[in-house]
Amino acid sequence: PEIAEIERTHIGLYQDFPQPGVLFRDITPLLRDPKAMKSVIKYWASTVPGDVDLIVGTEARGFVFGAPLAYEMDRGFVPVRKAGKLPGKPTSLTYDLEYGSATIEIAENAVPKGSRVLVLDDLLATGGTAAATIKLVESLGAEVVAASFLIELLGLGGRDKLGDIPLHTVWSIQ
Ligand code: 5GP
Repeated sequence: PEIAEIERTHIGLYQDFPQPGVLFRDITPLLRDPKAMKSVIKYWASTVPGDVDLIVGTEARGFVFGAPLAYEMDRGFVPVRKAGKLPGKPTSLTYDLEYGSATIEIAENAVPKGSRVLVLDDLLATGGTAAATIKLVESLGAEVVAASFLIELLGLGGRDKLGDIPLHTVWSIQ
């Protein structure tokens, strides 16, 4: 099926989840259809801009798209995790949320200095998660060549939080 069609048939919509006023996009129908998933990953891989050495994905839905995309592109995958999950001496970054803060971590020596990284997640909303991930990767001396999302929710200002980093999306929707 056509890529645009898959967005309509394989992304669920839940009003008021996880909080009142939020229209949640559920990617799990896409995950359970291997044909649709294959089409999306192939399309995604073929449209990623620039030359990429590594794919860095954000916990947790950035893992389920980042790993197959990295496999398809014949590149390595590096997970960015919530604090306390990675062994060794991970590099941490704490960033502000609407209420409180969050800490993310990446394994030591996972991203070599100077490497060209694609930062990936399932969905771009306000951009806080992506901006923090980009900052963490850049703090290691790597270059973020693009930030890539299955879904960009337009109108939440996510784009503006990415600075000069090129944005790449499979679907940009209202
Ligand atoms: P942001 O930091 O851009 O506001 O939110 C993006 C993060 O929250 C991503 O890690 C994403 O997985 C999650 N997220 C926010 N809203 C949704 C949604 O409607 N559907 C899904 N699947 N994830 C969401």
